Amino acid sequence: MAQMRIYCDYCKQSYYVYQHSNWKSDTARQCPHCFHQIDRQTWDNIIVPAFGAFMDANMQLIKDMGGGSTRFAVNFEEDYYFPNMEVKE
Ligand SMILES: [Zn+2]
Repeated sequence: MAQMRIYCDYCKQSYYVYQHSNWKSDTARQCPHCFHQIDRQTWDNIIVPAFGAFMDANMQLIKDMGGGSTRFAVNFEEDYYFPNMEVKE
């Protein structure tokens, strides 16, 4: 099951948004620790489609496995954008 980790630089913590629950809901773009929000347009227009695109990519890879020639899955991890970033779980 897909999940997306979101780092919040306001409170230096991260949280997860899950494919099977809330990834398209309005609360998903709000940090549960400090309640700062990701801009709605950025969330709706960029982040949700990007998450969906990765899920689609893995679905296609699973389909391709049916042909017997491919055994891959993709995951995305970003380098840290913020200096001195320390993430608390
Ligand atoms: Zn926060």
